[in-house]
Amino acid sequence: MDPFKALWISQNEDKQTVAWREIKEQDLMPGDVTIRVSHSTINYKDGLAITGNAPVVRSYPMIPGIDLVGEVVKSENENIKPGENVIVTGCGMGEDHFGGYAEYARVKSEWVVPVPEVFSSSQAIAIGTAGFTAMLCVMALQDHDLAPDNGPIVVTGASGGVGSVAVALLAKLGYDVIAATGRTQEKDYLMSLGAKELIDRNDLSGQCKPLAKERWAGGIDVAGSHILANVIAHTQADGVVAACGLAQGLDLPVTVAPFILRGVTLCGVNSVEVPRKKRLRAWQSLAQDLDIAKIDAMTTTYPLSDVIDIAPKILQGQVRGRVVLNVT
Ligand code: NDP
Repeated sequence: MDPFKALWISQNEDKQTVAWREIKEQDLMPGDVTIRVSHSTINYKDGLAITGNAPVVRSYPMIPGIDLVGEVVKSENENIKPGENVIVTGCGMGEDHFGGYAEYARVKSEWVVPVPEVFSSSQAIAIGTAGFTAMLCVMALQDHDLAPDNGPIVVTGASGGVGSVAVALLAKLGYDVIAATGRTQEKDYLMSLGAKELIDRNDLSGQCKPLAKERWAGGIDVAGSHILANVIAHTQADGVVAACGLAQGLDLPVTVAPFILRGVTLCGVNSVEVPRKKRLRAWQSLAQDLDIAKIDAMTTTYPLSDVIDIAPKILQGQVRGRVVLNVT
């Protein structure tokens, strides 16, 4: 294998530097599957890692990129064959294991998922961690028996990556979706993904009462803080809320009232450490329940070399839907 290009984050005296460099196969971290990366993407967490705005990188030097798609070129696992097209999301990539912003990656075989046949490589990476997380949130609602006839579901950060896929998934499954967004100018986009109603996220951004008017049967929240508190306070009896993000903040200023007086359930979702069986179930559901045309409609494609410029934009909420990065 010839030397290849990688984005390299290093740390000198507590200061992080990010630069492209050529590396060799022997520089890669241990693993039993080597992948020629064709596509990567940028998630909120990648934005944090590249800008250094939060301590996402846990060991230096690091190749960021929490998601990748590519062709297996070497495998010590008999169930994963060279030539297979695979996706890897999370699992510590870009945090304590070299990730997807390089032409090659070496990973552990238990992290590897075959790209479902219905998706192209570009569509699979467009789903990536954001779409996988949206699916885990939908599964959390379904696993708590929240059905479409229980009432509408609110999705916060609806124009972002997790939000866009959550809106599309819930709509396809027959739920009425209320999209909460700071970008009300994206109304046409959100309606085209399947939202029935739009609300301004400012309505949910302030201090909330312990219990507020029942507005929805459940929610998928990417924001945390006051927005999640309001989502919970407005959830009807026996409703379910899946929380996966902190775009507004890490805190959660709620009382126990919605839990003890309305029986509301709050489900936490972590897409990084997911047992392989659940990972495969989520990808099977994505293949079945996600409208492919909607993935294409929410995707913008750039060369990998643009990723340093895109990183601050995703943190400022300026990226709509999903970004595909062409690595080759
Ligand atoms: P995006 O940046 O694509 O989307 C986040 C969206 O949140 C924005 O598009 C915006 O939507 C909204 N938003 C931005 N800033 C604020 C703010 N200050 N207050 C309220 N809402 C805001 O990111 P992702 O979709 O990739 O990730 C969303 C969140 O989920 C992040 O916090 C991320 O860390 C987390 N996450 C967690 C995972 C897990 O495993 N638990 C996995 C993946 C993501 P709009 O303009 O429509 O309001």
